[in-house]
Amino acid sequence: MACPVCGDKTAKDFRPFCSRRCADVDLGRWMTGAYTIPVRADDDEDGETPDFAPEPPKDPRAH
Ligand SMILES: [Zn+2]
Repeated sequence: MACPVCGDKTAKDFRPFCSRRCADVDLGRWMTGAYTIPVRADDDEDGETPDFAPEPPKDPRAH
């Protein structure tokens, strides 16, 4: 069996990887993949008006 990251021989302590480093690399890829799940901010179908200009509320009592 070969390390899925670098193709080197698997080490029994780090199966299915060859080293701690490759295990970390794989974990990093997995986490990166999790973060790249499409979050489409401009594909908003909630009915919010897209040309809303964010302004601070002008309430004199809010001070
Ligand atoms: Zn490796």
